Amino acid sequence: MNSALAPVMRLVPVLRNLVRTHRLERASPERLDAERRRLLVRLVRHAQADVPRYRELIAPETAAAFRGPEDLPSLPTLDRAEFHDRAPEELLAAGFTTANTKAGTTSGSSGIPITIRNSEHDLGYLRASYLYDMLASGLRPWDRMAYFRVTPFLRHPLERFGLLRTFHIDTSTTLDDQVEAFLAARPTFLVGFPHVIASVVEELERRGVRYGAARRVLFGGERLTPTARARVLGHLGARCHEVYASVEVFTIARTCRRGALHLRAADVVVELEQDDGSVVPADGTRAAEGEILVTRLHSEAMPLIRYRLGDRVAVGPADCGCGRHTPVVLRVQGRSQDRFRGVDGREFYADFLTYAVQDFAEVSRMQLVQERPGQVTVRVVLAAGSELAGAGVAGAGVAGAGVAEAGTTVTERIAAAVREAVPGFDVRVEAVRSIAPEANGKIRIVKVERAATG
Ligand SMILES: [Zn+2]
Repeated sequence: MNSALAPVMRLVPVLRNLVRTHRLERASPERLDAERRRLLVRLVRHAQADVPRYRELIAPETAAAFRGPEDLPSLPTLDRAEFHDRAPEELLAAGFTTANTKAGTTSGSSGIPITIRNSEHDLGYLRASYLYDMLASGLRPWDRMAYFRVTPFLRHPLERFGLLRTFHIDTSTTLDDQVEAFLAARPTFLVGFPHVIASVVEELERRGVRYGAARRVLFGGERLTPTARARVLGHLGARCHEVYASVEVFTIARTCRRGALHLRAADVVVELEQDDGSVVPADGTRAAEGEILVTRLHSEAMPLIRYRLGDRVAVGPADCGCGRHTPVVLRVQGRSQDRFRGVDGREFYADFLTYAVQDFAEVSRMQLVQERPGQVTVRVVLAAGSELAGAGVAGAGVAGAGVAEAGTTVTERIAAAVREAVPGFDVRVEAVRSIAPEANGKIRIVKVERAATG
């Protein structure tokens, strides 16, 4: 099982996982529950028996008595800092080393970069879940796939047969280079951060180029305003799917045909830590919101149990009606540490403010930045044509103004809407040409740039 890593991607474990995923996709709640239980009990016992850090954290009798998701509260949560502060050997299971596992490293744009190590077995699951994301999003063997991302990726063996040809659109290059790479690749299936794909599409529009070859777009990693989303899909004439995934725990949720973002309940166990500190399972029996804790059921090399991913998530009941019996993710909000502070010291998750901004059809991109308590700068990129409605800066230094009147510019109206949502805040709205992404290529919609957050 823990053999040395293969130099090329192994196909058999990928196919095996693919078949399993497909079988479980529309499984009954009872079947899903049995599968989760089986994998979870195995994972917890494995972690306690074979991982040095978990031997410290979990007593043997706790692992022996563990029966399923309902017993998760008896186990500690796993903080991101553990991966930073500890040697890999403390978190790796017996038999696994840094030599026979492969590292997956987060960008660290929202804190410290962390490295998770995966065995060949774990990678078989990872690759299958990625491939299944594509297939469930309508991928066909003859599709030409464009990955909009910063880092290159492993080629897969099917390309030798002319199947699923992949192209890397390096999003760290200039927009001109990206457009050139895109047109040269002639992709039919686009995968990447929404704002990056939107930038390329907007540039094509500006040049008067109509690109009609794209069939599907798979968005992941961030939220796009409805205006930008409609423009991308309108120009491409493509259908859109979405995934919620991370480097550490892989795909957590994926959209169905109806657009509902279903939790992958056979592969991850999700709990939500609510604001009052209580933890509830995201099992589809009730709606809940809080900081997400993820247990990755396939993580033999470096078990991830109750891992604190850092996102704030709202999950609703399992009532989609598409044939899947899994809970639906209603909202994925930004990193939970992005909390704004009022002048009175009160802290709150600022994601709700973004809805006040994106409600304006003129807004193509946005970013809300707090530089000091009680203040917010809203940067907006306006959709083409709406500059006439009022570019520039609104509300500089003005706090607590009333509701906007007719005839005001769009930036003034946005400022008024934000002020209404956070009365007393110093709100400044700037129309900008672009919003700079973080090093990983993602745009952080809510960002705190205070000198010290302590
Ligand atoms: Zn559905």
